[in-house]
Amino acid sequence: MSRRGLVAGNWKMNGLTGAADTLVGGILKGLEQRKGKNICEVLVCPPFTAIQAVGKKIAGSAVKLGGQNMSEHKPGAHTGEITGQMLTDIGCTYVILGHSERRSMYGEDSQLVARKMVAAYRDGLTPIVCIGETLQERESGKTLDVIRDQVSAIFPNLPADEAKRQQLVLAYEPVWAIGTGKTATPEQAQEVHAFIRKMLVDQLGNDTASKVRILYGGSVKPDNAAIIFSKPDVDGGLIGGAALKAEDFLGIIDGFQG
Ligand code: PEP
Repeated sequence: MSRRGLVAGNWKMNGLTGAADTLVGGILKGLEQRKGKNICEVLVCPPFTAIQAVGKKIAGSAVKLGGQNMSEHKPGAHTGEITGQMLTDIGCTYVILGHSERRSMYGEDSQLVARKMVAAYRDGLTPIVCIGETLQERESGKTLDVIRDQVSAIFPNLPADEAKRQQLVLAYEPVWAIGTGKTATPEQAQEVHAFIRKMLVDQLGNDTASKVRILYGGSVKPDNAAIIFSKPDVDGGLIGGAALKAEDFLGIIDGFQG
C-alpha cells in the first residue's frame, strides 16, 4: 500500500489533565517498546483543555496532535468557539470535522463541515472529515447514497493545491457502529471505502485519489483491527472508546504491523 496507515484516537469529552497525562504516558511507553518496528502514524485528539499538556508530553516523539472540532470562522465574536489557528498554535496538525456526534447533536450538516474544512486548510491543519450512515439508512439500502451526498459536499471546497488535496483524510464511520460494540464487517467497510475511492478517482484523478487516506471508525478493538486494516482501501482507524486505554490503543496500532 502506498499510503501510510494512520491510527487516530478521538478522546471525545473524556479526560481531566491528570488522566490525559497518564493515558498519553502509557501510549508513549508502549511506542517506545515498539521502537524499530514498522508502525503506522499515530494521532491523539484530546479534549481542548488537555491538548496543550498532552502536546508538551509528546514533544520530540512521533505522536501527532489534533483537535476534535473547530470553528469555520476567523477570530472574533464567537463565544465558546476556537479557530484552527488556535489549534496549530498549540501544536496540532490535524482536526476531526463532522463527527457523527457533531452532526446529530449539534446540527452540523455537510455544508458546514465543508466550510470548516476550508478553514482548517487555511489555518494549516489536515482535516479528517467524518462521514457515515445511520442504521435506518443502512437498513433501507441508502448507505451509498448517503455517503455520496456527504462526500460530494466537500469536493467544491477542496483547495486547488494538489499537495493539500492529497493530505485530506476521510473517516468512514457507520453511525450504528460508533460506541455500540457493533463493527462493520471488513467486507462492509471495504465496500464503502472502495465506493469512496472511486468517487475520489472520478473527481480528483488517480494520482490524488491513490494518496487520500480513508480511515474506518466504529467499535474498532485490538481483536478486530488487523482484519479491518487488511482491506485494500482501509488506511487506518478513527478510534473512540478503545483510544481511552493505552493498552487497547496500542493493540490497535499493532494491527498495522507487517
Ligand atoms: C468514534 O467516536 O469516532 C468512534 C469510532 O468511536 P468507537 O471507537 O467508540 O466506536
